[in-house]
Amino acid sequence: HEPEAIPSEALRGEYENLADLVRKYRFAYYQQDAPLVSDAEFDSLFRRLEEIEALHPELVANDSPTQEVGGEVSAAFAPVEHLQRMYSLEDVFSLEELEAWLNRAEASIEKIGDGGARAAWLTELKIDGLAVNLLYRDGKLVRAATRGDGTTGEDITHNLLTIKEIPQELRGGGFPAEMEVRGEVFIPSKAFAEFNEALIEAGKAPLANPRNAAAGSLRQKDPAETAKRPLKMFVHGIGAREGLDAGSQSETYALLNEWGLPVSPYFEVLETREDVLGFIKRYGDQRHKLLHEIDGIVIKVDDFGTQRALGNTTRVPRWAVAYKYPPEEVHTKLLDIQVNV
Ligand code: NAD
Repeated sequence: HEPEAIPSEALRGEYENLADLVRKYRFAYYQQDAPLVSDAEFDSLFRRLEEIEALHPELVANDSPTQEVGGEVSAAFAPVEHLQRMYSLEDVFSLEELEAWLNRAEASIEKIGDGGARAAWLTELKIDGLAVNLLYRDGKLVRAATRGDGTTGEDITHNLLTIKEIPQELRGGGFPAEMEVRGEVFIPSKAFAEFNEALIEAGKAPLANPRNAAAGSLRQKDPAETAKRPLKMFVHGIGAREGLDAGSQSETYALLNEWGLPVSPYFEVLETREDVLGFIKRYGDQRHKLLHEIDGIVIKVDDFGTQRALGNTTRVPRWAVAYKYPPEEVHTKLLDIQVNV
């Protein structure tokens, strides 16, 4: 096998420019909740960065954007250390790439043995919002934070408490002593349209899009401002869970639902690849008729033992993948208007 040639000066230059650009766009997106480019454009730059790194691994520095979960912590909020790290997701952009990912995952699962090969796929909608981490101790909400860089997030407890369906105290009993519930805060599509209409009527600038509006709303300094925004949350994960009696993510969702947490009504546990592809097709056809915006489908290994055995990279879990729908021809005229968050 021929070793890859040393990268040319030009490629090195392209690589460094790309890395700087990705950092700059991430800053605008995560810190300022005001993206400078479309997601599709950002994704293709990120892809190119990954491509160059795959050809020349020697270029990969620890602080490369591909090694980090995007999202710094703003000084406007108190920093919060997550008990368990929060990750991003590996993306695939076509059904062929998804097939290739499933092949690799199934091969790894088979190696684990002991039932791993029969692992079912927990298939969910990829909600276009902001990831949060809720810490419950003995059934009581003690803290809420943004994802931040995955290790440290921002304390947004007071803002999060303005979202009515998030329980301050869980219902029932048998709660783990300590549990991190992860989910996505979003603005439902209809509420977003109505909220913007009201802003325009009042002569104010409308919000750019539901994702950045949700992020900006949750990261307000004044919780009274957050309370005016029509925010909702759906659970999509679990972090630290000392003493939780569940063997899979779907079993956990059932428990969280019983305890009064908002679990998405849209997820399914699917046994076969055909069913996963069917799910993708079905929701692709009706993606604009759902309660909230989605930018894809997330496919996860349901079984916790298999998740643990597959593990994580520094940025993403190896047991999950996000299939992104092809970008649509949308007119992002609103992005040109001042972003009012
Ligand atoms: P990601 O959004 O691709 O995936 C990870 C996130 O998905 C999780 O943290 C979680 O918040 C969310 N998520 C939604 N539904 C989920 C579910 N059912 N299960 C698990 N997670 C779920 O990754 P990212 O690192 O947050 O950001 C990359 C995304 O942000 C890309 O889509 C990119 O286009 C966009 N982005 C855009 C810009 C820009 O300038 N336009 C800049 C940075 C990032």
